[in-house]
Amino acid sequence: MNQNEMLLLKLGEVVLKGQNRRSFEDRLVSNVRRRLKGCGSFQVYVRQSTIYAEPVNERCDMEAAYDAARQVFGVVSVARAVPCEKTVPAIVDTARTYLAEAFAQAKSFKVESKRADKTFYMNSIQVSQAVGGDLAELFPDVAVDVRRPDLTVYVEIREKYAYVHASAVPGAGGLPVGMGGHAVSLLSGGLDSPVSSWMMARRGVELEMVHFVSPPYTSQQAQDKVLELARLLTAYCGRLLVHIVPFTEIQEEIRKKCPEEYFTLIMRRFMMRLAEAVAKRAGAGALVTGESLGQVASQTMMALGVTEDVVSMPVLRPLIGMDKVEIIRMAREIGTYETSILPYEDCCTVFTPRHPATRPNLEDVRRAEEALDVEALVARSLEGETWVRVKF
Ligand code: ATP
Ligand code: MG
Repeated sequence: MNQNEMLLLKLGEVVLKGQNRRSFEDRLVSNVRRRLKGCGSFQVYVRQSTIYAEPVNERCDMEAAYDAARQVFGVVSVARAVPCEKTVPAIVDTARTYLAEAFAQAKSFKVESKRADKTFYMNSIQVSQAVGGDLAELFPDVAVDVRRPDLTVYVEIREKYAYVHASAVPGAGGLPVGMGGHAVSLLSGGLDSPVSSWMMARRGVELEMVHFVSPPYTSQQAQDKVLELARLLTAYCGRLLVHIVPFTEIQEEIRKKCPEEYFTLIMRRFMMRLAEAVAKRAGAGALVTGESLGQVASQTMMALGVTEDVVSMPVLRPLIGMDKVEIIRMAREIGTYETSILPYEDCCTVFTPRHPATRPNLEDVRRAEEALDVEALVARSLEGETWVRVKF
């Protein structure tokens, strides 16, 4: 590793935000700082739509920092780069040593330059030509090819230094967490809700999780699996508070007193009420679920209407128009798939009706629910709430 190697993180949509730009940048810098903490001591600062992350000492794990930076929302690309003096010989020398291995493997190369410092005496084309010419002499076996080179050497002329790097890798995109408001996400052990949580976090939403448990019908392992999913999500979302809310009594009451075809719907109405209560206390402005239109009986359009009827907060359903295969692909990409498929029961799968209503009538469901003391059940359930703080 080159001792001066550092990371250049390019900001995405953040740059477009006009007057909010400063607060977006500040938020992103603090999110990057927090995320890199586990990789060693880094100096992190922003200049001209780029975040610089410089290791302070040799104990920094650059490999880990590189991976971590790619998980921070608001970053569109990450490059490992080396700074040098703003002269052609210094740039050439840096590229020669820093990219020696890449040159050894490439058959062709080109230089692409950017001049953020407009006062620099050469323009970007002149920089590319000068640096490219010298590198071509130093590596006579590697041909210059400006169309489809194996290796592109990027040179950025910035305020203090020039930076040399090979190609950047894509970052997670989106907006910095904390800029999109605060929501409570209903996290089950399934495939969907970790993905829906991730998608809202990518739009800058700061999340708290709520998970419903029905012991003894659901096990400690099922709960641990959900906490593990939350832990996996902290790589992107930052630390997460998980509200564990008991659901057994509600489910038993529903089973005792309501028509079987409405079990799931009434249960889901309770989940929404409880989640909204948690959200109000947390000062959150919306709920997030992993529902996807038509995926199961309780996710038909009419069923969603019946479910939503009991809350006034917006219910965000980022997966609503997605196919299961797409959701699975995303779960693999964000790293939650393997945990989600572990076979522990969820409270939704306990007491599943044989013939759930797919075209429920709201009035009928409301009437069926009158057999229950809704307020008291909600209050008792909330009394039994516990919390787990999940850190990366
Ligand atoms: P899968 O991912 O296998 O489809 P699922 O839990 O997403 O399972 P449903 O049971 O229909 O499927 O639940 C729909 C949504 O309700 C979930 O995406 C989640 O947001 C919420 N939910 C379901 N069960 C729970 C639970 N035990 N705790 C918290 N939220 C839940
Ligand atoms: Mg689902």
